Amino acid sequence: MAEFTRKLILVAREFYNLVAARLDELSGPGDGEIMFRCNVCGRMSVVGEAKLTREEATCRCGSSVRLRSIVHVLTLELFGKSLAIPDIPVCHGLVGIDMSGAANYAERLVGRIGYVNTFLHKEPCLDIVSPGKEWLSRCDFVISSDVFEHVAPPVSRAFDNTFRLLKPGGIFVFTVPYTKGGATVEHFPELSDYRIERRDGKRILVNRLFDGRIQEFDDLVFHGGEGETLEMRVFSESGVLGELARAGFSDIRIHAEPCVRFGIVWEHPWSLPITAKRPAASSFEP
Ligand SMILES: [Zn+2]
Repeated sequence: MAEFTRKLILVAREFYNLVAARLDELSGPGDGEIMFRCNVCGRMSVVGEAKLTREEATCRCGSSVRLRSIVHVLTLELFGKSLAIPDIPVCHGLVGIDMSGAANYAERLVGRIGYVNTFLHKEPCLDIVSPGKEWLSRCDFVISSDVFEHVAPPVSRAFDNTFRLLKPGGIFVFTVPYTKGGATVEHFPELSDYRIERRDGKRILVNRLFDGRIQEFDDLVFHGGEGETLEMRVFSESGVLGELARAGFSDIRIHAEPCVRFGIVWEHPWSLPITAKRPAASSFEP
């Protein structure tokens, strides 16, 4: 009965969202508002322009500018044009993986292409520090959005392994928060055997080095929760581009272009989506 009630609520919510999107379309945008079609759910949405920030949910499906930009650059690279998920031609032979991709676009992509969402601690499992051999050279695309800032150092392994997941000619769709200038800042460059302790309500990272010395850090930054979301570094633009080039990627592109019809505008020239390609005729094996 509980399952029936849950399904009923989901259907009612979907119906409400459809009606609300239609009303948005009929009423159009007011002053300081923008009307766009969400490329994740395919519905219309009207929001205040000031709300179109990288992370704020600006459609009833929960999509933000960042999430819509992932769909935008993925479809641009795979199909040569920006498509909303409901308009993607069904092609399950097009295979790719994501790393803890957001549920709203992940569930919809599964119905169109051979998309597999992977996780660090549940099936299907993928740890980009040491991915299973079954994934290597299998992917037409790999998506990683706001994950690499949490990967334990050295982060070069994550870039190298992503390259190895891709088929020659495969596409990497990548986002991380990054600064426009300077170099990447590693918070724990000597991270080795570490744990996070709670002391007087404060979280402390205790790191035991190879020679037995102990380091402690109390200025920890967590993103959206605890544990695996500890910020390990703040990337810079040149740091990201340098890692991609070093790992062997070509066609590295920062997508600063807006796509207003899909509600994608950028308030800052940093932390933008990036695409890169594993060269088609590559013998490069990092
Ligand atoms: Zn939506």
